[in-house]
Amino acid sequence: MRRRPPMLAGMSSPSAVPAPTPAAVPAPPTLRDVLDAARRLDGLVVRTPALEHPELDRAAADAGARDARLVVKHENLQHTGAFKVRGALNLLLGLDAEERRRGIVAYSTGNHAQALAHAARHTGTRCTIVMPTDPNPVKERAVRRLGADVELHGSTFDDARERAAELAETSGARLVGAANEPVLVAGVATATLELLQQAPDLDVLVVPVGGGSGAAAACLVAAAMAPGLEVVAVQAAASPAAHDSWRAGELRTAANTTRAEGLAVGCGFALTQRVLRERLADFLLVSDDEIAAAQRAYLTAARTVAEGAGAAALAAVLVHPDRFAGRRVGVVCSGGNASEPELRRALDA
Ligand SMILES: *Cc1c(COP(=O)(O)O)cnc(C)c1O
Repeated sequence: MRRRPPMLAGMSSPSAVPAPTPAAVPAPPTLRDVLDAARRLDGLVVRTPALEHPELDRAAADAGARDARLVVKHENLQHTGAFKVRGALNLLLGLDAEERRRGIVAYSTGNHAQALAHAARHTGTRCTIVMPTDPNPVKERAVRRLGADVELHGSTFDDARERAAELAETSGARLVGAANEPVLVAGVATATLELLQQAPDLDVLVVPVGGGSGAAAACLVAAAMAPGLEVVAVQAAASPAAHDSWRAGELRTAANTTRAEGLAVGCGFALTQRVLRERLADFLLVSDDEIAAAQRAYLTAARTVAEGAGAAALAAVLVHPDRFAGRRVGVVCSGGNASEPELRRALDA
């Protein structure tokens, strides 16, 4: 195994880490891991555009964020419609032939599943996705079309998780969670790396959070390459586990009722929380209705389709304008997989 420094250069020294990290919690990726990921993913992921939208700046000004200049990182245009494919490909490209033969197992109905199925097909890896019975038919079809085996099990996410763990245990396949996976975080971090090249003058970067891999990745890259850049996380107020964990300084569970599928997570995760604790500047909450209004702003002012999770960062700018007035603001539009009813609701918002 390659030796690695305990923390990224530029972050505080290991002795400043508050609590001893249990052995089961993997160390965060280093900048070198992120640069390795960027090389691996070159040509396999979309170098998504980072765009200014004057109409969106006007909408932000109308909301009170005067002279905020937004730059949208369009991961809604990424393969499978969300940033998660960066992490999935980085992970599967790193497996050897025997590991690919044994395959991977995951539980998810959403973008994590699609990203893994896409990466599995690309790398010739067996892939089984466990979903609760009665899944969103659109997402189920998308995963099947990408060639993954889908197993429907149980009525809740927890049932599906248990079944996935059992399958991994009996088959030797690797269980791939959506957080606590350093290789996923390193792959996801390539989006921030690109953005810093596309818009080196950002004052603040706003990132939506479910399990926290995207925000942790942004923090790691900012710590190493853009010390003055503030990273601000955003979560749905109806699913605030990562927010609550960050504020409390310890892992928390919380209610989990947001409509924004990509943000529907009910607990904090040790790996991502550890990074957020060290580097995150602020953590904001937005309501589901505010998220829908931001989806509408994307549609009307930027001709951009964002799913709820993908619009949460913009919602934070519109809802907390004082924080962003006069600043150059990177806004991560993390995904575009909005269903038709969801888009209708957004236009009515
Ligand atoms: C998964 C997801 C998120 C949340 O990302 P985490 O890394 O879990 O915090 C945000 N937006 C979209 C579109 C997602 O699919």
